[in-house]
Amino acid sequence: MVNAASTAKHRPSTGSGPVPPLSAKIVEPTVFDLSSPGRIGVTMPDPDVPETTLPPRELLRSDLPLPELAEVDVVRHYMHLSSFNYSVDSGFYPLGSCTMKYNPKINEDTCRLPGFLHTHPLQPIETVQGNLLLMYTLQEWLKEIGGYAAVTLQPAAGAHGEFTGVLMMRAYHKSRGDTKRVKMIIPDSAHGTNPASVGMMGLQVVQVPSDERGNVDLKALEAACDNTVVGMMLTNPNTLGLFDENIEKVIELVHGCGGLMYGDGANLNALLGIVRPGDLGFDVMHFNLHKTFSVPHGGGGPGVGPVGVAARLADFLPEPLVGMIEEGDDDTAPLYGFLKPAKSIGRMKAFHGHFGGGFVRAFTYIAMHGPDGLKDISQYAVLNANYLLARLRDTYRVPFDRICMHEFVAEGRFEGSDVRALDIAKRLIDYNFHPPTNYFPLIVHEALMIEPTETENKDTLDAFTDALIKIAEEAKTQPDLLHNAPSTTRFGRMDEVKAARELVLCCGLPEDYSNQ
Ligand SMILES: *Cc1c(COP(=O)(O)O)cnc(C)c1O
Repeated sequence: MVNAASTAKHRPSTGSGPVPPLSAKIVEPTVFDLSSPGRIGVTMPDPDVPETTLPPRELLRSDLPLPELAEVDVVRHYMHLSSFNYSVDSGFYPLGSCTMKYNPKINEDTCRLPGFLHTHPLQPIETVQGNLLLMYTLQEWLKEIGGYAAVTLQPAAGAHGEFTGVLMMRAYHKSRGDTKRVKMIIPDSAHGTNPASVGMMGLQVVQVPSDERGNVDLKALEAACDNTVVGMMLTNPNTLGLFDENIEKVIELVHGCGGLMYGDGANLNALLGIVRPGDLGFDVMHFNLHKTFSVPHGGGGPGVGPVGVAARLADFLPEPLVGMIEEGDDDTAPLYGFLKPAKSIGRMKAFHGHFGGGFVRAFTYIAMHGPDGLKDISQYAVLNANYLLARLRDTYRVPFDRICMHEFVAEGRFEGSDVRALDIAKRLIDYNFHPPTNYFPLIVHEALMIEPTETENKDTLDAFTDALIKIAEEAKTQPDLLHNAPSTTRFGRMDEVKAARELVLCCGLPEDYSNQ
């Protein structure tokens, strides 16, 4: 974590005690600072395993500086720190492209069921049939939702799924003796992870522009398509929140030159139960379970980036997949276990992926909604985004202004004003809203990328648009309010450049701790 104290204009804390001078550093005490010898926070239960002798003396550390605090001290310490955070549980979080929907708390109950919580990835499969059935069913559901022949659950996030998918695309071409293919076509609206995943593999990126309606420019695409192309990576709806009106033509062009189509599924929240990317012709796609299927993310938990593939890529999937290895009959249940695809690209992750934190939560979420519920999710997500767009388009310029999907991109700048998207974003914090994504996608000047998700009600959407309209007014009449925002938070505006350049990743530990 960055030690923000050294880079931020700080504000006095709201607690008691003297108000520090403005130039002073606020450094929160750590559990080590709060430690006092003899305070006890836990009482060890009686051991339920046989007692054994300690390891040899030289392997024991007598000087390990563990903090000593009572439970109440620890709870208050972390509650205090958590109050500096903003979260989906505390307010509206319209961070475009990230799908910061509310995460139902039933997910927390299921992923803590003892049978799931206390399993070990190396247990014999006969003892973890419940876990394997859950993984198998989740694979089957994702196949059905995305329109795919097979799914791997292994990748640890969307970007990892991209890497996995592109590895399979490359392996597919190689297996056919087609070794000239070294280029990947990526539109200028793409998320940065797309070219990064491709670059990590040593493939070349060929960028194609967007046309004036925010679609892939077909002429440029046609010119880029040749027999050196591995394929194309495309997010649809794209990062402008727009469904590509020529999607069938785009895919036809890529397939026409022997390329494969990679779908970046991060925006699947707009499509559930309405369009299946596999049916459109996307040969491979990652799902972001932590976006679409309510696994907490952004500091809240591990990502999960399963990848679905069309039949011709199924043999290349990472191993192992979960499969039924013995069919059941009237008397015996089927047996689930692990399978290795014939031309597997290998393993992408230790063990089986993020089981409890990811699979169980996403499984719960899908099971709870069912097919109709999933469709509702996307319809409300799209409706909410279009409601915001309709209320804001007279105040904020929207460069690609047509019916949007689950998000849209406005410009955070006004004629004759030096107010920027960053100022607007920071001012929103004073109104107790998390800012939208800004400065992405790169093709919109001063971009404000707004994604409300389906979980917000009309009152929240109205309050948010009221705040943005008021801020536009302030930009004209009191621009310094925006330039100096946020003004209601513990810390003022961060010097983000300094924080990135002079990263302090470790703070608050005792000085001699690193020598231990
Ligand atoms: C979030 C996102 C990704 C990357 O997913 P991670 O899970 O964060 O690695 C890729 N593309 C788009 C469009 C995204 O929004």
